[in-house]
Amino acid sequence: MNLLDEIYLDEDFKDIFYSDRRKSTLLISSDCFSTQEHCHCLSYDIKPYSTRTADLAIARTNGSIIFRTLSDKGEEFIKKISGADPVNDNSIIDSIELKHKETEAILKKSNKDLPDYQTTGRLTDSAKEDKWEKYSTNCVSCGACTTICPTCTCFLLIDKPGFEKVKQLDACQYPGFERVAGGEDALHELPHRFRNRYMCKYSWKPKFFKSIACTGCGRCIEACIGKINKNELFLDLVQS
Ligand code: SF4
Ligand code: SF4
Ligand code: SF4
Repeated sequence: MNLLDEIYLDEDFKDIFYSDRRKSTLLISSDCFSTQEHCHCLSYDIKPYSTRTADLAIARTNGSIIFRTLSDKGEEFIKKISGADPVNDNSIIDSIELKHKETEAILKKSNKDLPDYQTTGRLTDSAKEDKWEKYSTNCVSCGACTTICPTCTCFLLIDKPGFEKVKQLDACQYPGFERVAGGEDALHELPHRFRNRYMCKYSWKPKFFKSIACTGCGRCIEACIGKINKNELFLDLVQS
């Protein structure tokens, strides 16, 4: 979300549709008290619970729903909920903090060999052609890894009859993503297209934006029809 804000709320190129929706949206995050197979947020210094950006964080414990307020907007919202009482019982707060620590311990253990975000960028930069060829063998250019990614921001503007302009999600994994007038296409070759997503997330975006471009959610791994696991590629690069 921080990256989306940086891109779509840029002073010079503000996306007014995003901006309007962002202003009228209350962000409620949910604390993770369990992990899925490919979760690796902590490897990139992202906690499995919100500490900022969201307005409210929700946690379920011992049959109760607990809200942590993270912004004035969240504070105002909570005031409007009848029956929402302040938590005065320290044992409830302690139990939530304990669950945070337990989740972090699971993530740390399950991703103990995974490089951090900066190291991943350096590994991606220096990866040789043969790695991109090897790992893209099973890629079918379906674009699932990008369309499901919470930090992907590419879109197409399509002119329709009647002066209608339609904005549509785009994905660099689709053939033709970089095709220009005259037919030239820098990403015509599959391994080059495949590499583009990695370079975008771990090398190029970190050079231009403050916010991280991969949350470590693992959704691209879950969604991949070719069963390509980006973290296996990174572990391979660590060992090369
Ligand atoms: S270039 Fe690819 S990886 Fe980067 S934001 Fe666009 S679709 Fe996502
Ligand atoms: S793990 Fe995959 S889907 Fe999740 S943010 Fe990173 S690149 Fe995107
Ligand atoms: S989801 Fe997998 S198969 Fe589909 S474009 Fe991404 S890497 Fe290729």
